[in-house]
Amino acid sequence: MKTLKEYIKEAKDKGIAIGHFNISNLEMLHGVYNAALKLSREVGYKIPVIVGVSEGEEEFIGKDEIVALVKNIREKDVYPLFLNADHHYSFESVKSIVDLGYDSFVIDGAKLPIEENIALAKKCVDYARELGHREERCIMTESELGFIGQSSKLLEKIPEGVSEETMTNPKDAKIFVEETGIDLLAPSVGNIHGIVKGGNPRLDIGRIKQIKEACGIPLVLHGGSGISDEDFTNAIKTGISIVHISTELRVAYKQALEKEFKDNPNEVAPYKYLSPAVKAVEDVVYNRLKLFNLIF
Ligand SMILES: [Zn+2]
Repeated sequence: MKTLKEYIKEAKDKGIAIGHFNISNLEMLHGVYNAALKLSREVGYKIPVIVGVSEGEEEFIGKDEIVALVKNIREKDVYPLFLNADHHYSFESVKSIVDLGYDSFVIDGAKLPIEENIALAKKCVDYARELGHREERCIMTESELGFIGQSSKLLEKIPEGVSEETMTNPKDAKIFVEETGIDLLAPSVGNIHGIVKGGNPRLDIGRIKQIKEACGIPLVLHGGSGISDEDFTNAIKTGISIVHISTELRVAYKQALEKEFKDNPNEVAPYKYLSPAVKAVEDVVYNRLKLFNLIF
């Protein structure tokens, strides 16, 4: 099977994006994988998918359990399913998950001054390179530059500290990539974590193009929930190679559960009352995968 690096390059060359979906538990993993399998069967080829766990999500699901779950699916079904450590804030937490066998990580120093952000990212990249070389593993490294908020939830307004000024500057992006050696860059281009009740901001497609040209590496769009289909397709055609979806899945999961408890208040079997939540996650992921892979 191709490595994650090869799949990302393939997506970049084809002008499509790989879907990255955050999960908190086994049900959400099943929802994501069911959707990937369903679409793969329909199109006749295996669509690569990344599942992501943040520091909080991995603590809940089990840091090493999730490695075993993803590895099991990948090896048993020979399916390109990869595991990303999403938003890790220190070298120690990156080191711990890289040692456990995660395929990629996001070192997030976006709130730090750029010099400190560079130093932190470089330390993580150097460690991953050295370990990857020693263990013959492909470990993809990603970092965030420019602030896009931190909470994947429903928001009353655009998060504090996010503005035009905190969008990524293409010149900074170039310096950042050169000095850290990072494989993937997550810029701030109008995207934010979470869904704003009054509507999310539009993406700055021109800025994506400038950043892409300045740094030359694949770009990752975080905070994909709440972005319009039109902005997505334009962003993907312009140089976004991975798109992150989290809040939409959380909302779909919760709404399905609420409905189920209301409709069947006497049901106590988790495998029964959780099934609609799995299906709700599957439906969101299926539609997002179609869009990101430009399958119409
Ligand atoms: Zn993110």
